[in-house]
Amino acid sequence: MTRSKSGPPGNNSGGISGAIAGDLEPCGACGRSVAPRALFCHACGAAQPPRSLDPFTRLGLERRFDIDLEQLSKQHAGFTRAMDPERFAARGPRQQANAKAQVDALREAYEVLRDPIRRAHALLSLLGGTPSVDDGAENGAENGDEEIADLAARLTRADDALELDRIGLELGQRIEACIKYLAPAFRKAQTASGPDSPSAFDGAARILARLERLEALAADVRDRRAARTPPRP
Ligand SMILES: [Zn+2]
Repeated sequence: MTRSKSGPPGNNSGGISGAIAGDLEPCGACGRSVAPRALFCHACGAAQPPRSLDPFTRLGLERRFDIDLEQLSKQHAGFTRAMDPERFAARGPRQQANAKAQVDALREAYEVLRDPIRRAHALLSLLGGTPSVDDGAENGAENGDEEIADLAARLTRADDALELDRIGLELGQRIEACIKYLAPAFRKAQTASGPDSPSAFDGAARILARLERLEALAADVRDRRAARTPPRP
């Protein structure tokens, strides 16, 4: 009986089992095979060094944009507790260093997934999509970019706190809408595409580019707003 390796694309259950065939690593302490995302060796209990993993796999989450943020926090907290370097103190400095490196890697993955923009970038590159090249004014005519150009122009002219606040509010609403649209855009691309159709992700990539421009403007508003708060005499 032969087994084909070419399963359906996107067949990823979240990698909870960690049994990714062919990707096993030897445990540094006992030499037995360990799954790349294993925090410690199931045979001898040794803390494993963090391997190169995408943030979703590292935190045991499904590769999707609309992750459950509560589950994200829970997974991060649980894994971090399990890898508390103190727990490996008796096992020597090497394992303690591994545990600490795991905690750092878990935090980095957590920070990526918690931020919608960084999460979208991570998912896009993971699934083979390419970021939309965003030259600002260059591709102005496309869906809603005029609106952004308009807000940018208003921001340039704005010279009182009230107008800055108004622009900030509008930006916030558009940012929320972008984040809301990203989930179905990714879902559509992930179900529609095979591995050879990265263009399926163009929709998500465009929304992401828009989101980044809006975020940049929002940061500008925050800076200017902060600078306007007069020092009290
Ligand atoms: Zn071991």
